[in-house]
Amino acid sequence: MKRRAAASPRPPAKRSATSPASTVRTHSLLPIISLTVPPEVLILGTHPSRKSLAESLSEKEVRMRGGAGPQNYGHSQNIFWNVAGSACGFSRHAVSYEKQCEAFTARGCVLWDVVRSCLGKGSLDSDIDKSTMEANDIPGLLSQHPTIRRICIAKTAAAFLCHSNGHAAWLKTGEAAGRRWDFVLRTASPATAETASVLGKYCRRATGSEIEAAVQKERAAGDGALQRTVELVVLPSTSPANAAMSPDAKEKVWHRAAYGYERAPAAYRCVGCGAVGEHWFVDCDRNEEWRRQQMEKKTRGDLFVEEVDGDRWLYSKPKA
Ligand SMILES: [Zn+2]
Repeated sequence: MKRRAAASPRPPAKRSATSPASTVRTHSLLPIISLTVPPEVLILGTHPSRKSLAESLSEKEVRMRGGAGPQNYGHSQNIFWNVAGSACGFSRHAVSYEKQCEAFTARGCVLWDVVRSCLGKGSLDSDIDKSTMEANDIPGLLSQHPTIRRICIAKTAAAFLCHSNGHAAWLKTGEAAGRRWDFVLRTASPATAETASVLGKYCRRATGSEIEAAVQKERAAGDGALQRTVELVVLPSTSPANAAMSPDAKEKVWHRAAYGYERAPAAYRCVGCGAVGEHWFVDCDRNEEWRRQQMEKKTRGDLFVEEVDGDRWLYSKPKA
């Protein structure tokens, strides 16, 4: 499969002699996109963390993320790729980043960031100096790839989309790149409430069949159609900093709202009971007991989940 290089197109961030040692300008990576499989879903993060840019990775981190180079969403404890893996059929630590991207894009998914470049002191979104940020050309990417009809964005990144130059006006007017964008909010989706609270004012409400009908009509008009219906979906952040929701619960919401599964994927194996393709782990009868056992092992200091199960994440910030 042809795919654009995942490595940074620009020189790595350098510390300037005059700037404070901890503040550097960093740049986002190229979009992860297939040049052969028509993309349907664009997933947006905010901006690569220092770990995503492969700064000071430990051996364990390299093993957990499937490689030592720069990666979009490449923090080893961010479960984005673990969840993508359980949706697209791979185990993050067991295959190279290249293979992870291949399986991900084969499902029609694209991955990019809202912020193209910025000055920042650390790895959290809150470390980004908003006055220095430049935005990636998201309308341009959508315009080039008319098959993309859904934008999924973590709640933290959505705040940047609403406030960054170039995107704020696009959301408000629905106009950019010489086209008219009709942003829609799908009713009765697991992400409806979250999306409504963050991006609701930019969207009109529509049912799944209404969205489907609008898309069909535009496709019939061909690639030159000026209007594009695009669904906006806000999802819980997969970062360990978002401890308000368990990793298991995040997994189910992402599978349903981003990857379009109505039931657990056919090849999905529940770590609680081992059932395949029957239910998500968060819904398993054994979920609570399994988590309690993991907590006990973690307390004893002998837990590293990849060793226990092979494809699950470390419970770094458990809720009591
Ligand atoms: Zn189960």
